[in-house]
Amino acid sequence: MRAMVLNEPKRPLEVRDVPKPKPGRGQLLVRVSTCAVCRTDLHVVDGELPDPKLPLIPGHQIVGQVEEIGEEMWEGPERPDGRGAPTFGIGDRVGIPWLGWTDGNCTYCRSGRENLCDNARFTGFTIDGGYAEFTVADARYCFHLPERYSDVEVAPLLCAGLIGYRSYRKTGDARRLGIYGFGNAAHLIAQIAIYEGRELFVFTRPGDKATQQAARELGAVWAGGSDEMPPEKLDAAIIFASVGPLVPAALHALAKGGVVVCGGIHMSDIPSFPYADLWEERVITSVANLTRRDGEEFFEIAPRVPIRTLTQTFPLEEANIALDRFRAGKLGGTAVLTIAK
Ligand SMILES: [Zn+2]
Ligand SMILES: [Zn+2]
Repeated sequence: MRAMVLNEPKRPLEVRDVPKPKPGRGQLLVRVSTCAVCRTDLHVVDGELPDPKLPLIPGHQIVGQVEEIGEEMWEGPERPDGRGAPTFGIGDRVGIPWLGWTDGNCTYCRSGRENLCDNARFTGFTIDGGYAEFTVADARYCFHLPERYSDVEVAPLLCAGLIGYRSYRKTGDARRLGIYGFGNAAHLIAQIAIYEGRELFVFTRPGDKATQQAARELGAVWAGGSDEMPPEKLDAAIIFASVGPLVPAALHALAKGGVVVCGGIHMSDIPSFPYADLWEERVITSVANLTRRDGEEFFEIAPRVPIRTLTQTFPLEEANIALDRFRAGKLGGTAVLTIAK
């Protein structure tokens, strides 16, 4: 099968003909239809995340059809939240996210925090992902996807949507919600926030009037540069940009008891800040990975909003072009690789 392969970090992906994978115990063989490109893919390709599998097929926002079902499908271990594993038949549409496998057995897994599993494996990072014609995935971590979305439309929901949603849920019932960095995840989560009646304050790169205008058109009550203070103190802020200095900036904009949620997997160093900005029970936290429950909740709410995705498609072989444009901030939407049949 054709695949885009990372041989070593900081090098372009290589188009290669590699053996089609075989589904092992509990796995689905999936014919990939689309795979959206995530900022994490950039971090992996650019060598900013330690110890990827090498060589690696990146990609963890995968949509495809079940082509083959492995033997001995899992019946357990029981999930801590009591829900069973999803079941799939040949030909079913399936979504494959970042969280690819957990041990089900560590302290974290047993307390409903499988996103923090000590032995977790991640799609397109420690196991091969979806920049290819086929992939295999543990069925327990796959999702059924809402019917209203096409394969291209739904792909960006699988990470930007899911992990964005987990970040959003960490803001509790914040009425005034700030979002720093208005990229893919922010664009999706802003739609839920507005749907749920939050007041949205969007912070962009200073001077980025076009993005600020887009945020206002989506329904933000205020949009400005990340160097500006909002007109009112915020109950919560989510930072989607991988820019450490945004942490003290967001903290400074919080009301008492507010929370700053760092939504990315990688961020530059955070500069020091006065303790007075943290005082009065303000909180800084981060979001790591996702749980299956996050995914199920998100795919339930997404079509009700309905969340709309902005996408720009590229053939599989142009993955390097998509990554370069992403790195340069020159995409008109989430890049989605389409795999010709
Ligand atoms: Zn675990
Ligand atoms: Zn991702």
